[in-house]
Amino acid sequence: MGLNKATSGLDAAAFGELRAKVHDLLYKEMLPFEKESGLTHETRFERAQLEDWWKRSRELGIYGCNLPKEFGGLGLSIDQLCTLKEDATRSNAALYGCVLGENGGPMRIGYIITQATETQNQEFFFPAARGERAGCFALSEPEAGSDATRIQTTAVKDGDDYILNGHKRYITASRTADFAIVMCVTDPDAGTEGVTAFLVDAASPGYRIEGHYLPMSGQHIDNDIILENVRVPARNILGGLGNGFKLGMERININRLLQCPTMLGHAQFALEQAVDYANRRVQFNRSIANFQAIQHMLADMKTANFAAHSMIHAAAAKADRGENIRIEASMCKVFVAENAFQVADKAIQIHGATGITKNHPVEWVFRRLRMFRVLTGSSEIQRNTIGKGIQKDWQMANPEAVS
Ligand SMILES: Cc1cc2nc3c(=O)[nH]c(=O)nc-3n(C[C@H](O)[C@H](O)[C@H](O)COP(=O)(O)OP(=O)(O)OC[C@H]3O[C@@H](n4cnc5c(N)ncnc54)[C@H](O)[C@@H]3O)c2cc1C
Repeated sequence: MGLNKATSGLDAAAFGELRAKVHDLLYKEMLPFEKESGLTHETRFERAQLEDWWKRSRELGIYGCNLPKEFGGLGLSIDQLCTLKEDATRSNAALYGCVLGENGGPMRIGYIITQATETQNQEFFFPAARGERAGCFALSEPEAGSDATRIQTTAVKDGDDYILNGHKRYITASRTADFAIVMCVTDPDAGTEGVTAFLVDAASPGYRIEGHYLPMSGQHIDNDIILENVRVPARNILGGLGNGFKLGMERININRLLQCPTMLGHAQFALEQAVDYANRRVQFNRSIANFQAIQHMLADMKTANFAAHSMIHAAAAKADRGENIRIEASMCKVFVAENAFQVADKAIQIHGATGITKNHPVEWVFRRLRMFRVLTGSSEIQRNTIGKGIQKDWQMANPEAVS
């Protein structure tokens, strides 16, 4: 997938076929299986259950489709990837993340595969692209959330190895991962250039998973990683010594954008549920969809989703042209996170008491969407980025006025 590199993606016919395969997997296999087995978003899935679906998706030629062709993927454009991500989430399947590999698979690897050595690809990323291994990305720590420069996990050289010590917090997919990309301080005096990314095997002595908290979505996917004297060979340095921060920041713009179709998928599902409910629920001798107050809420929801969809695809098209989308990614992230949440809120209002009943689908979507205003850079951090961009543009246009 393109990162400052133009990407045209699959031709329309091939993409149509891929999209149909994703649809069939979700609606003809996954959702009926979940219904039959009583699985929900709040089920504690075991690794083997996830792996079955990763492999099924791989068998169908879906899993890994986001990766560049030279790495065994289909080289989808970012625009196409956004479409598939929205489709997957909109299904409301509890295991939707297994279709494209969001919980530990190819979606979590993304562009990083282009930065890996051949040995690293053979050991970690190619098996992950095949659904045989899974990874996670570990940056956050108890003292380093929005301010990633505060990380304290250390990697100290010892012969041909490094010894890692630290605590990574809220790491998605860590419980079911075979390896983690861990951001560590290798030179405490070099600022952001003293941060290095390591590929760490989860089976290494001293590596353990902790943290039995649940996010408000009730999904059992986030845990802490504790590293106590974990020995990692120097060949597992990803992207070069001192380049960890750069690697993380390069990944972040596309990642912010790619969170947006997920949020939009949830919001589209909430809208569909609300339209259906409004037409079926009868009060005062007519369906509540006849009341203008309800119609206006539905109108606002549809408008918000259309605006989100338009923004996402405009930003994706820009990324596919190889242009920098730092500001656009932040604008999409803050707008979609806040508006998708409002859509979920209206869906609950339209459902009345049914909507505020625990585990009703719109009640779950509401809880899940609330989280995105914090995750992958909070709304405040996105506004900071946009604000800095506005200042930079003005200063460039008015160099004489800059003191
Ligand atoms: C479910 C879940 C999954 C996650 N997955 C991962 C993962 O896979 N990998 C990973 O590395 N991390 C992960 N995280 C961590 C996540 O990225 C952080 O929670 C996020 O960056 C915010 O950090 P924080 O929670 O420490 O909040 P803080 O940084 O402490 O922020 C608290 C408040 O202060 C505001 N604030 C902070 N700085 C500023 C500023 N400069 N200007 C204005 N306002 C500011 C914030 O917007 C927020 O409102 C995950 C978190 C959760 C809850």
